[in-house]
Amino acid sequence: MGEDPMLLMIERMYGPEARRVLEYLLEKNREVKDEEIAEETGLRINNVRRALYLLLEHSLVMYRRVRDRSSGWYIYYWQVNVDQINAILYARKKMVLEKLKARLRYEESNEFYVCPNDGSRYTFDEAVDNDFRCPRCGAMLDYEDNSRYKEVLRKRIAIIEEELKREAKILSS
Ligand SMILES: [Zn+2]
Repeated sequence: MGEDPMLLMIERMYGPEARRVLEYLLEKNREVKDEEIAEETGLRINNVRRALYLLLEHSLVMYRRVRDRSSGWYIYYWQVNVDQINAILYARKKMVLEKLKARLRYEESNEFYVCPNDGSRYTFDEAVDNDFRCPRCGAMLDYEDNSRYKEVLRKRIAIIEEELKREAKILSS
């Protein structure tokens, strides 16, 4: 299993148990009782419940409760709040897009020079300040054609914009 950036974010914000519980619910993709989560994840039931309430506070999960006829107790069935998860993923992707756009603007508004020895990179102003020599090793700096890099950035931006447009339609429907 690869490291899902959303799950990593959940872990940083709400702890490893909340992450494990959410991961389990995402895998199951159906309503699950807290006892079942505890059994299958190996987490203690109290920790599962604490994680569920934490996730509930942030609308990441939702529940349905049913009164058990024989005991009179409520049984809680938990599942992922897919709309909220999608909204989080959408917001994250938008943030990535803004970073890429800022990077592209930076690449477009600067000229760059690189050291042939160590690959360190300088803007035109920095290169002028150092008489076009590498401040680390003294080698003459080379002009860098960053047009390919800009092209890669533009393509990634276009792909993400297209994805966001599609996801916005799904989120608003
Ligand atoms: Zn150098």
